Amino acid sequence: MNPVPEPTDRPDPAEGLAAVRRAIADACARAGREPGSVSLVAASKTVPVDGLELAVAAGQSVFGENRVQEARTKWPQLRARFPELELHLIGPLQSNKARDAVALFDVIQSVDRESLAAALSRECARQGRRPRILVQVNTGAEPQKAGVSPEEADALITACRRTHDLDVLGVMCIPPVAQSPVPHYATLAKVAARNGLAVLSMGMSGDFTQAIEHGATHVRVGSAIFGARNIR
Ligand SMILES: *Cc1c(COP(=O)(O)O)cnc(C)c1O
Repeated sequence: MNPVPEPTDRPDPAEGLAAVRRAIADACARAGREPGSVSLVAASKTVPVDGLELAVAAGQSVFGENRVQEARTKWPQLRARFPELELHLIGPLQSNKARDAVALFDVIQSVDRESLAAALSRECARQGRRPRILVQVNTGAEPQKAGVSPEEADALITACRRTHDLDVLGVMCIPPVAQSPVPHYATLAKVAARNGLAVLSMGMSGDFTQAIEHGATHVRVGSAIFGARNIR
């Protein structure tokens, strides 16, 4: 099985990007928010480098990858050519990949345990890099999903800041698929507010306009830009 669609199956991401940007602007207008208050993170797992180049040509500058290994094969060449691009890790991270993650990413959205925070902190010191981080919150308490529980999020955020000297920007969640995401947005917003955090990463292709109306500052949109994926 080929995880990457054939080029002919893939739409031009310029069209998807234009549609998603319009939908973001409309959602901002409905919510009385500035369009510039929402960052679009193009979720580019399984998208090959030529698809990413088309998105960059269409003006996209922030991307999210799920897997460190995949990012390693795609991104060094893109970064060399387009130094202004910003790369986020949006998938789960194993501590033994902390070195590569610190080297590759500008923002790590999936910090969900203190051992990982410690590993990232060590690598930051070693490499002299400071990727910013988000704490991933498992708002639906789904056992198969990464993320700290909402109750334990505060202690983890404090430990990231005080013990591990990480730049915590905010929080991220992936609501359960079969439920209304709205209560999950609310849970995430509460965690952010009580910890004085400005960034709320929530909303994907199916729900990003709703997420914006509930305060999302970062939406992670993949298939609405790049077309359906065969896997993941
Ligand atoms: C793939 C992915 C997205 C984007 O999903 P789409 O439904 O394709 O928009 C967002 N967040 C995470 C963590 C993902 O893995």
